[in-house]
Amino acid sequence: MVKKNVKKTMKKAKKTTKKINTKKRVVETKKTKSKLNEIKGTIVRISGPVVEATIRGARLYDLVKVGYDHLIGEIIRIVGDTCVIQVYEDTSGLKPGEPVVSTGEPLSVELGPGILTGIYDGIQRPLKVIEEKSKSFFIKKGIIAQALDRNKKWEFKPVAKKGDKVVIGDILGTVQETDLIVHKIMSPYNGKIVSIKSGKYTVEQPICEIKVDETGKTEDVLMYQRWVVRKPRPVKEKLAPNIPLVTGQRVIDTFFPLAKGGAACIPGPFGSGKTVTQQSLAKYSDAQIIVYIGCGERGNEMTEVLTEFPELIDPNSGKPLMQRTVLIANTSNMPVAAREASIYTGVTIAEYFRDMGYDVALMADSTSRWAEAMREIGGRLEEMPGEEGYPAYLARRLAEFYERAGRVRTLGSDERYGSVSIIGAVSPPGGDLSEPVSQNTLRVTKVFLALDAPLAYRRHFPAINWLKSYSLYLDSLKDYYDEVSGSIKQLPPGARPFPELRADAMKLLQKEAELQEIVQLVGPDALPEKEQLILLITRLIREDYLQQNAFSDVDARCSLQKQYMMLNTILQFHDKAMNALNLGAQVSKINAMKTVVAIGRMKEIPENKMDEFNKIYKEMENEFEEILRK
Ligand code: ADP
Repeated sequence: MVKKNVKKTMKKAKKTTKKINTKKRVVETKKTKSKLNEIKGTIVRISGPVVEATIRGARLYDLVKVGYDHLIGEIIRIVGDTCVIQVYEDTSGLKPGEPVVSTGEPLSVELGPGILTGIYDGIQRPLKVIEEKSKSFFIKKGIIAQALDRNKKWEFKPVAKKGDKVVIGDILGTVQETDLIVHKIMSPYNGKIVSIKSGKYTVEQPICEIKVDETGKTEDVLMYQRWVVRKPRPVKEKLAPNIPLVTGQRVIDTFFPLAKGGAACIPGPFGSGKTVTQQSLAKYSDAQIIVYIGCGERGNEMTEVLTEFPELIDPNSGKPLMQRTVLIANTSNMPVAAREASIYTGVTIAEYFRDMGYDVALMADSTSRWAEAMREIGGRLEEMPGEEGYPAYLARRLAEFYERAGRVRTLGSDERYGSVSIIGAVSPPGGDLSEPVSQNTLRVTKVFLALDAPLAYRRHFPAINWLKSYSLYLDSLKDYYDEVSGSIKQLPPGARPFPELRADAMKLLQKEAELQEIVQLVGPDALPEKEQLILLITRLIREDYLQQNAFSDVDARCSLQKQYMMLNTILQFHDKAMNALNLGAQVSKINAMKTVVAIGRMKEIPENKMDEFNKIYKEMENEFEEILRK
C-alpha cells in the first residue's frame, strides 16, 4: 500500500512539474516573441572588438546592435546580466553608457536566388550596396544591407503541384539563377501543398502555401530562407569519400587526390603560386559551385581576388566564372571578429548549394588569420591561453569547421547527392608548420598540398612538393582510380591500373631524392648506368608530367584519362629502357631517343586526340628494337 501511495504522489508531482514547465515555456516564448528586437541594455566596458553590456534576458549567440551606430555584434558569453559581445565592426568612438539592443535572433544568413555572383563581407552584406550606402570606398559603421536584392524578380518554375505531400528538402520549384546554375527552392516544411505559383516574383513574395503537418496551419513559402550560421544544415546521411574531386591538375589528381566532400590544407608561402592554384581549382575542378572566403587577407591580395575572379572565364561554358561563384571578402584591416563570421557565412552558403545536389568547393584563405582573431578575442576575454597564446578551443573550432565538409545524401524524398569540399589555406609565420594552427589543421584535413618556395623559385609549377605532400584518400579512392584505365578505348599492351602506376612513379621520385644527395657529392657520371636511367626517368616525370602551365590553353586542365596515358607512357618507357639496359644498351643512347622528345610533347596532345599516345607507344617499341639490334 505504502509503495503504491508513494508511486502515486511521485506521478502527481511529475505531472505538476511538467505542467509548470510547459506553462513557463509558453510564457517565455510569448515574452521573447512580443519583445523581439526589444531586449535593450547598456554598454559597460569596451575592449577593442569586445564589448560588455548589461542586457537582461538575452541569449547566447544572439545578434545585437551596439551603440548609437548600431554596430553588428554577437553575444559570446553571459555572466548574470552581463553579456560579452564580439562586434563585427570597428568599435572606435564607442563609449560606455550607449544602448545595446539584442535582436533575439542568432547570426544567420539569407539563402535564396541572388547569392551567386555576390561579393559579400563577413556578415553577408553585399559590398556593392555598402559602397553605395556609405558613399565611400571604406565601410561606414552600422550600415544595414540585405544580402539578397528585394526588388529583383525571379522566374519561378514549379516542380511540385497543388495537393502534393512534401517533406523538408523536397524541391518545390526552380529558378534559373545564372546562365550556369539552376537554383532549387526547397521546402522548409513537412506538409501538403495548398497552392503553388508560377511566374516572376521577388524573394519576399510567397510562391507556395503549405499546410504544415506538425501545426496544421497553412504557411507561406518564400524563395529565400534564413539559416543560423553556426548550425550545420541537416542531411540524411554522410557518405564515404570515395569519389575524387577531379581538379585537372596532374600532381593533385595523380599523386595527392582530393575526395568530393574531403578537406585539404594548403600552406601558402608568398609567391609559391597559391593564388594561381586556387584559381585553377575554381576553374577546372569538377565542382559546380565555388565559395571563396578571403579571411583576413591583406587588402592588396584580396583586391587581386576581387579584380581577377570576376574576369575568370568558365572553361566549359565560356561564361564568367562568377556565375557559379560566391566571394566573401574580409581584409586584414576589417575588425578581427568578422573573420569568424565570414568563415561560418561561407560554409553555410556552401551547405545550402550542397543541399540542392551540387558539388561545392569552398576555399578559405587563410584560416591562420581566423585563428589569430580567436587569439585576440580570447585575450580580451581574459581566457586562459593555450599553446602559443591561442585559445584552448582552437583545435575544436578548426575541427568543427572542417567537419562541415562532406559528401551527403540530402534531405528530401528524392535521391539527391551533394558535397562540400574544403580547401583551407594556412599561412604559418616563417613557414614553420609545427605551430598550433597548422598542426591542428593537419589533424583534421586529409590532404596536404605542400606549396614550396624553392620549387617556385626554380619555376617548377604547380610548386607542390611531391615529397612533402600527402593524401589520405588514396585508399578510399582506389576503386575509382582502378576504373580509369578501363574507360580508355585503345590501351597499349601491358597497361596496368592507375594506382599501380602512381605507386611506381612515387617510388622513382623518392629514389631520385636519395640519388640527388650522392650526385651532389660525386656528380652524375659516377653513378651506375641503372641509377642514371632512374634520374632520366624522374626528370621526365618532373618536367613532362608534374609541371603544368596554368596559362596554357591545352595543358591547364588534364583529364584523368590523359593523365593515365601520360604516366603510362613514361613508365612503359622506363620498363623498356631498363630491359634494354640489361641487354647492354647505354643510357646516353636511350637519352637521345626520339621517344624522349615525344614524351616532352605529350602535354600538348589535345583531349580528343588520345590515339596520339598509341603512336608514341609504337614508335617507342620500334626504336627500342632498333637499339637492341645495334
Ligand atoms: P602567391 O599567391 O602564392 O603569392 P601566385 O599564385 O600569385 O603566388 O603565383 C606567383 C607567380 O607564379 C604567378 O604570377 C605565375 O607567374 C607563377 N605561377 C604559379 N603557379 C603557376 C602555374 N601553375 N603555372 C604557371 N605559372 C604559375
